[in-house]
This record gives sequence, C-alpha cells and structure tokens, in this order.
Amino acid sequence: MTDANGTGVGRDLDVVVVGAGFAGMYLLHRLRGLNLNVQVFEQGKGVGGTWYWNRYPGARCDVESLEYQYGFSDEVQRGWTWTERYAAQPEILRYQNYVADTLDLKRDIQFETKVTGADYDQATARWTVRTSRGDVVRAKYVVMATGCLSAARVPDFPGMGSFKGATYHTGDWPHEGVDFTGLRVGVIGTGSSAVQSIPEIAKQAKELTVFQRTANFTLPAGNRPLTEEEIAAGREVLLEGRRRAFATKGGLHTFEYNNRLSTDMTPEEIRKELESRWNAGGFAFLGAYEDFLMSWEANTIASDFAREQMAKAIKDPGLVEKLLPQGHPVGAKRLCLDTHYLETFNEPHVTLVDVRETPIERISAAGVVAGGKEYAFDAIVFATGFDAMTGAILSVDVTGRDGARLRDKWAAGPRTYLGLQTAGFPNLFFVTGPGSPSVLSNMIVAIEQHVDWITNCIGRLEQHQVRAIEAQVEAEDQWVDHVNEVAAMTLYPEANSWYMGANVPGKPRVFMPYPGGVDVYQQKLDEVAERNYEGFALSPT
Ligand code: NAP
Repeated sequence: MTDANGTGVGRDLDVVVVGAGFAGMYLLHRLRGLNLNVQVFEQGKGVGGTWYWNRYPGARCDVESLEYQYGFSDEVQRGWTWTERYAAQPEILRYQNYVADTLDLKRDIQFETKVTGADYDQATARWTVRTSRGDVVRAKYVVMATGCLSAARVPDFPGMGSFKGATYHTGDWPHEGVDFTGLRVGVIGTGSSAVQSIPEIAKQAKELTVFQRTANFTLPAGNRPLTEEEIAAGREVLLEGRRRAFATKGGLHTFEYNNRLSTDMTPEEIRKELESRWNAGGFAFLGAYEDFLMSWEANTIASDFAREQMAKAIKDPGLVEKLLPQGHPVGAKRLCLDTHYLETFNEPHVTLVDVRETPIERISAAGVVAGGKEYAFDAIVFATGFDAMTGAILSVDVTGRDGARLRDKWAAGPRTYLGLQTAGFPNLFFVTGPGSPSVLSNMIVAIEQHVDWITNCIGRLEQHQVRAIEAQVEAEDQWVDHVNEVAAMTLYPEANSWYMGANVPGKPRVFMPYPGGVDVYQQKLDEVAERNYEGFALSPT
C-alpha cells in the first residue's frame, strides 16, 4: 500500500533494515537470498552511509582499497577497478553505487527517510517501525545497519548560532563542495577528518587557523596510484584474502602482524620493525609487535619512535612541542593517516591554537574566542567527530519487550551480547554494534562477519519456524564483563577517545568496541551458532 507521497503505509514485512551503507546494502543482498520481504530505509538521498555524508576535502579511507571492498563475490568485484592505494571518498561512493546497481539493490531502499521509532509487540512478535515520512510498517525483524560513525556532533559552545559566516561539519559536508579560496577559515579539531581536510583547505584559504585540543599520532599514508600488477594480483586473491582477513586480529590481510613480544626482541629488531612499517604507511605500524597496545613500556618505544618521525616534518621548534602527542599511547586513539598534514603547519598562512593553553570560550558573530582573543573568520569547519557507536542507534526511539526503552537500558553505557543483540529487544539485531570488534578492525570485514551471521541466523529461525530470538541477560552480562576485562588488559582505556565515549560530555565512559580481535571473535560467533545459538533464548511459534 502506498500513500499520496509515495511512502509505504502499514506494510507487513519480514525485515526492516535501517541504513544503506556498506552494511545495509550487503544485508539486503543476503536477505533477498532467503526470499524474505525486506525494506531498507535510508536517511540520505543515495546509498553509501558514512561515505555519502563525509564529503569534506581530502576525505579518503585509511584502509587500503584492496581490503576496503566487499569480499563476498568474486564476480561483482571483478567488475571494479580501484585507482589508488587508499581510495578517496568520491571513488568509494562510486563503488558503492556500482555494487548497488549491479545487484539491483535500490528498488528496495526508500531514501530520504529516517527511521524515528521502533516498538515491539509481544503478542504478535512483530516490530512496528515509524519513519520521518510517516511510514508505519510492521516487520518480524529489525536490523540496525546504522554505522558506528554516523551521528555527527558539534560541541555545545556558548554562542553557537551567533556566527555570521558559514559553518560546516566534516561529517555532513555540502554535496556541491565548498570553495575556500581567499577566505579566513577556522578548523576546530585535529582527529582523522581534520588531519585529512586541513592540508586541502590550506591550499585554498587565505588564512587557516586550527584549534587543537589533543595532538594526535599521525603517520604518512603513502598514498599513490595502484599499479596494474597490484590490481590484477588483488583480484586473484580476493576471496582467499578475505578468508585470511577473518583469521587476523584487525581483519586486514595486506600486511603481517608480528606475533613476537617486544620483550623478546633486541632494540635493533624493534627499530627495524617500526621503521619498515612506518615507511610502508598505514596500520602495519600497529602490528610491529604483539604487546604494542598491552604495556606502557612496549608502547613508549613506538610512541617515541613516532614522535621522532613526526618531528622531522615540522620546522618551528615551538610547533614541534605543540604538534607532538603526549600523554596517551600510540594506537589507543585511532591512528591518523595523513598526506602532508604536519608540513601544512610550516606554511606562513597556517596557525595552530592550542586550546589546552587557551580554551575556546565561545563562538562569536565574528568567529571564535579562545584565551581571551577573538579570531575572525569567514568560515568555521567543525571537525569535531561523532557520537560514535551508540549515537545513530539511540537516535531511533526503540521500545522492546514490556515497554523497556533502549535509551534507558543503555543510559549507563551500551550492553549487548556479542554486539549483535541486547536483552529485552527480541528480533532486533545490530551490525557492528558496541561489544563487537567493529571500529578496531577493517569495517568491511566486520560488516560481512555480522551480516553473514545475522542472515544465517534468520534463515535458520525461519526454517525452524522460531517466533523470536533474544539475547539472555546472563549471556549479555558475561559478554559485557569479558569485553571490559579484555579492554582492561590493553592500553585503550588510557586515552580519552571516542572509543570510550570521552568526546561527548556526559556520555558514559565505557570502552565500546571488542578488542579481542576479529579472529577470536569469529571463533566465538561460530561456536555460538553451532551450539544452537547458545546465550540466546529461542521462542517457538
Ligand atoms: P574525532 O577523531 O573524534 O576528532 C574530533 C576532534 O575534535 C578531536 O581533535 C577532538 O579533540 C576535537 N574536539 C571535539 N570536541 C571539542 C571541543 N569541545 N573543543 C575542542 N576540540 C574538540 O573525529 P573525526 O576526526 O571525525 O574522526 C572520527 C573517526 O572517523 C576516526 O577516528 C576514524 O575512525 C574515522 N575516520 C576515518 C577516516 C579515514 O578513513 N581516513 C577519516 C575520517 C574519519 P580531542 O581529541 O581532545 O577529543
């Protein structure tokens, strides 16, 4: 049934999928394979998820193209050719559209539609899903494919809204692009998005002022065009590479993790590992030795090495002090990969303001007031990140069994079993939810891992006419404890990162992703499924 606006009203579906990024697209493909009636709702006007919204200058993936692609179909992949070692946003978005068109996905995706609420009715074991366009549909299953970094966040500075110039957020960039030529531009933030966009904005701006709260570890990406040999070789090992990726800690197969402990290596051996990995570019650096993120002693060797390399790029000794990260272990916040980021600060029209020394007091009509000084701008770019991992999920008002609200249940931090489900919310799944490796791994691998598991699970439930599946409280408690225990064995909690929710004032400080590794997690997923979904309650029809 369709109303006057063309939106579906009152339809009865098997599955509602929220989001049409990499996760939602693959889900739709797999669920169609089960002959289920699936509807995807997507807020954007097109597919792509994070790559649809993050169109800021310099936006580029930090995982190599030959790994940051679907691995489920050799045939689909053979029709695509990457051009660069790290693909830029427009190329990734073209790839996603290529896949969506090849698999004819768009006909089951309703665009420009935000899912606003979902309520579970125990009597019928059906979800009622509401959208911003007035759709009210019913479905047996709801899968949140909402992405981990999709709820863009602007800090609540006093005076927000008083600025007379233009404002932008890197995570919600104008599609027509922005021309900063001849303008005075302020950028707030120095995370991955800022590190990528600052060199590009500096090429156009008359003056660029960067407000830095925390200096980040950043390493030259070493981006370059791919050779024909690399592309051909990448094609040949696609399926095999993906199989190997599932058996690694980070879901990455283009480099080897060194499984030796730094304590078993000589200083020369350690230096050689760090040097070759730094020079190679990318996340290989974090795999230099097994205890890289396990002990301060081991990590300090790498942190010192990284600072030594970074310092070489900065000319002004005063700036070296400010731009070199201190106080958190390298890798405990997401490592940034850059192209001439630090070198940009050598340019005369680029200024760094350390907001730890001179905090941002307010936004004014003219610009930003920090440390008692007003900086006047024509445009301000907020590269201030996301309400990560939970923000997009909780932007939907979800009510489960017995009227329990997800927002209440997660008020002290997210609680899930395996990152896949949360007790009290039957037949509701999360793709790369909190409590799964997700953002600590190659997201495409993490997505395929979850989509495959969820689809196989739904297939078996349907085959055996199971009415509902729900994580059991005990299993969830044990999993949450396990995630916390593993996190406590690492240095991750030592940094104020978005992994910990530390970037959002008032957000509970909980380490959200599972740091045990994609490989270990895959074994757990397999075991749980083999044991007839151990830890989940299955209710018969
Ligand atoms: P982010 O890493 O959270 O960085 C936000 C920046 O804004 C930080 O420097 C933060 O400082 C600063 N900030 C936030 N609130 C502030 C305030 N009130 N005052 C001053 N500064 C403030 O966000 P992001 O750069 O968008 O990146 C998020 C994640 O997205 C990345 O870690 C990565 O996983 C992903 N990403 C990936 C790529 C890629 O593939 N290459 C590119 C972009 C993003 P603090 O550090 O002190 O909090």
